[in-house]
Parts: sequence; structure tokens; C-alpha cells
Amino acid sequence: MLGEIRGEVRFKEPLSFHTSLRMGGFADIFVVPQDVDDIRHALLFAEREQLPVAVLGGGNNLLVRDRGVRGVVLKLEGCLGRAEFHGEEAVAGAGVSLSSLIREAAALNLGGIEALVGIPATVGGALAMNAGTADGNIGDFVSAVYFLHPDGSIGEFKPGSGTSYKQFYAPRGAVLVGCRLQLHRRPLPEIQKDIKQRLKGKKSTQPLALASAGFIWKNPGTDLATKLIEKAGLKGKRINGAEISAKHANFIVNRGGAMAADVLALMEITRERVHAQFNIYLEPEIRVLGE
Ligand SMILES: Cc1cc2nc3c(=O)[nH]c(=O)nc-3n(C[C@H](O)[C@H](O)[C@H](O)COP(=O)(O)OP(=O)(O)OC[C@H]3O[C@@H](n4cnc5c(N)ncnc54)[C@H](O)[C@@H]3O)c2cc1C
Repeated sequence: MLGEIRGEVRFKEPLSFHTSLRMGGFADIFVVPQDVDDIRHALLFAEREQLPVAVLGGGNNLLVRDRGVRGVVLKLEGCLGRAEFHGEEAVAGAGVSLSSLIREAAALNLGGIEALVGIPATVGGALAMNAGTADGNIGDFVSAVYFLHPDGSIGEFKPGSGTSYKQFYAPRGAVLVGCRLQLHRRPLPEIQKDIKQRLKGKKSTQPLALASAGFIWKNPGTDLATKLIEKAGLKGKRINGAEISAKHANFIVNRGGAMAADVLALMEITRERVHAQFNIYLEPEIRVLGE
């Protein structure tokens, strides 16, 4: 079945090449599918061999442990990478980058999803995380989500009850393959102005020049995780090459040579300290993968 895949199949692929934190061990079997059929072949192979499957989009919210990932890792960035526009609706494949979707829509005077500007993501990864900002999450704009069940059949999901804060309730083991997004007519110059302002805001508050994976923790209730970490005196705390960002305490940056174990140790200290001081348990936003 792996032989039927038209995309790429690699063995012992370092996942540090495929994650924004630039760390983590290798994937036993790494598949870059070319189309939905390739994904099906990979899923059926994994099912037959009883291997676990992990899906990677752009790897922008992932911490891969140092001993890597057993089984099959499917990398969807670049696969299913087309978006089409019909009236005020976009139909986007899971591998489309969010930024190019926003840009392509804007060129057609279609906006409405500017809240998602500056989030490094594939559409699939953004859906899986219900990525967004204070002004809206991707789930707010989606009218349908398509996915593959582990047995290779296609399913469709209507929004509404399917998303919540940083979460999308797809069936277990489903691979998201695309979605429909509702846009609105908006003049290009207005969209461009909005995008510029949002990017400027991000740049001034987030450590964008260093390798990171976005927010490490979900905001607990109405509290901001970054404020709790700051008050716990952990801003700038470093273990080897990993550092709780001095610019934004809800980021951990890789200053060079950091291991996943260093990041996990910083997370443990943060969780303990914030709990001891504020009686609040922080819940990770970042997804941790592997051994
Ligand atoms: C500098 C920086 C700034 C960021 N700012 C924000 C922000 O403002 N708001 C925000 O919400 N996030 C932010 N993030 C985090 C990240 O960009 C988002 O979580 C994004 O949605 C991750 O998309 P991805 O394609 O990289 O997914 P990945 O990191 O590859 O995967 C994330 C999760 O989604 C799953 N997944 C990915 N694709 C699929 C698929 N097709 N089917 C099923 N599951 C899938 C993975 O298994 C994993 O569990 C930021 C990250 C960085 C590095």
C-alpha cells in the first residue's frame, strides 16, 4: 500500500525540519501525500499494520518529543493546497496556508477573515486547533468541514457545536481535508490596511524573530496565561536553549540547540509555579507528540 503512494514516503525523517520550534526526534514513516487517495493509502496501510497515525500541518503548534514518533506521520502542508472562490465563499484544501488564503481572497475584494491574519497555519491545522485571535476563530467562518475517516471514507461536518476554545471536535482519527469558509465583500485597500495593523500589533507583542510554537498555554477563563506566568516571575526563565520569552511569557522560544525535554521542563515549572501561586491549573494549547 505504501508503494501505491504517488507523493513521498521517507523513513526516519527528522521532525525538527517540519516544526516551527525546530526540535524533536524523527518519524519512523513520514508521508507527504499528493492527494486524497495517497492519504487513504497511508491510512489503510497504518490500519493494516496496526500503526498509529499522526497528522502534521505546518507544525506551528507542535512539540515533538526527543525520541520521535512511532508509526506513520502524514504531512499535509503543500498537499491539498488549492483554494477556489465561488461568490462570497471559499473552498480550501487542508494544505492551503492561511496567509495565502487571506491574500488570495483579498485580491478578489473578499474579506471577513482578517482576524486570522498572522497565524502561521495550514487550513487543516487551523481547523484542528480552531485557531484565532480575540476577534474571531476559524470555526466562526466555516460553513462545512470535510474529513477522511480512518477507513478512508469521506465525512462532512457542519459547524455549530463542533468547535470551542482552541478545539475542534472531529471524529477520533479523522484527517481534515478541506472546508468551506464564508467571506464578505470588502474593498482591497480596506483589507490591506486592516492586515497591516494586525501584523504590526503582533510584531510588537510577540517574539516573531525566534523559533517558537505560538501560545504554550490556553488562557484559563478570563485570566491571561501570559500575565499569570509573568506574575509568577518566570518571564525570561531559561533551560539550556529553551526560554520563556521575555517579550511574551506565553511563548517558549528556541534560542539554539534546545531539546523538547528542555521545553517540557519549563512547562512543568510553569504549571507548578502558577498552581502554587494562583491555584490555577494551566492547560497546554501546544500539542505534544511522540515519545
Ligand atoms: C509565531 C506564532 C504565532 C502564532 N499565533 C497564533 C495566534 O495568534 N492564534 C492561534 O490560534 N494560534 C497561533 N499560533 C499557533 C499555530 O499557528 C496554530 O495553532 C495553527 O493553527 C497551527 O497550524 P498548523 O498547520 O501549523 O498545525 P500543526 O501545528 O501542524 O498541527 C496542530 C494540530 O492540528 C492537527 N492537525 C493538523 N492538520 C490536520 C489535519 N489536516 N487533520 C487533522 N488534524 C490536523 C495536528 O495533528 C496537531 O494536533 C502561532 C504560532 C506561531 C509559531
